Amino acid sequence: MSLVDVLLPTTTVGSYAVPGWLQATREMIRRGEFGRLDVREVLDDAVMAAITDQERAGLDILSDGEERRHDFIMGFYERIHGFRPMERPRKIGVEFYDTEVVYEAIDRIAAPAGLGIVEEFLFARTRTTRPLKVPVPGPLTLTTPTRRGPAYKTEETYVGDLARIVHTELQRLAEAGATFIQIDEPAFHPWFTQNIKGVVQLFNEAVRGVKAKIALHICFGNRAGRPRSRRSYVPFFPAVLEARAEQFVLEFANREMAEIDLWARFGVDRELGAGLIDQKSFYLETPEDVAGRIRMALKHVPPEKLYINPDCGMNYTPRWLAFRKLKAMVDGTQIVRGELGGGRTIEGQATPGSRGGGSGRARGARSARLRR
Ligand SMILES: [Zn+2]
Repeated sequence: MSLVDVLLPTTTVGSYAVPGWLQATREMIRRGEFGRLDVREVLDDAVMAAITDQERAGLDILSDGEERRHDFIMGFYERIHGFRPMERPRKIGVEFYDTEVVYEAIDRIAAPAGLGIVEEFLFARTRTTRPLKVPVPGPLTLTTPTRRGPAYKTEETYVGDLARIVHTELQRLAEAGATFIQIDEPAFHPWFTQNIKGVVQLFNEAVRGVKAKIALHICFGNRAGRPRSRRSYVPFFPAVLEARAEQFVLEFANREMAEIDLWARFGVDRELGAGLIDQKSFYLETPEDVAGRIRMALKHVPPEKLYINPDCGMNYTPRWLAFRKLKAMVDGTQIVRGELGGGRTIEGQATPGSRGGGSGRARGARSARLRR
């Protein structure tokens, strides 16, 4: 299912940079200096800033920047009943995975009012006419800063309850009009190396019957812009292909394009959302860098199956740099669209053009006419 009538659609993985004024405001909110309506106003403004930046950068498919969330998923535990926050294991020194609050499940967990992602989507939908991708944490991601605790005897029942919470949110999102949803799951969860079938089964339970385009982002970790696991996808293939995802969103830029041949190697017929911008790095990619990476990907993935995105969320990237990185990503994509003969698609199919020819370049630059 194609959301836009342009080849090599450009999009994000979810979070966008957090504006400096929002960071400062969060401190004031924590100190109780903002009322409920004040908080809503600044968060609405932050989402609009994220959307405007993505539009100006030229992305085809936007997100709301996850501006209402803090630290990617930490805000969700206030909405899930049954968790008790515990002391942070380490409070001094550099921010890392051991400086997060840990939540312990002391009762059966439930989110009767949902995770709030439907509300995020409904607001963003009124602020842009471009297609939106909605990032949703998968059940294994939600286990990241948690401990199973006395309420659950087995890991299966614990993650099963989290999968039900995610499933309900996905159903509600699709009913609210979301057409493109990305589930984020962590490669560093032990199941990825010990029980990949369990990962797939859980994912399929979470997405069962959800009427939207579903992508699976397998993340190597991004807390404070730092990875957490061994950065290789090969051990998960081909088993992970049993996941009912139309698209896989994977990191390549921060691994210097290692494993970009995965699609050819395993005969993958799904779309690839290729991470071609390293949001963890202070290095600003040039459009030519991006074009070169796209050309590498196109050796292994047909153009009509390839989406272009950063490796991961940009909430730990300074805003000025995040914007310039996205702009370079879009400009690099335009170069390759030109080489492909304009980059337009008809009914979601690629229009093959003269690979390497320069004549389509100008047309390609104007080709991002969008369908909702
Ligand atoms: Zn990620």
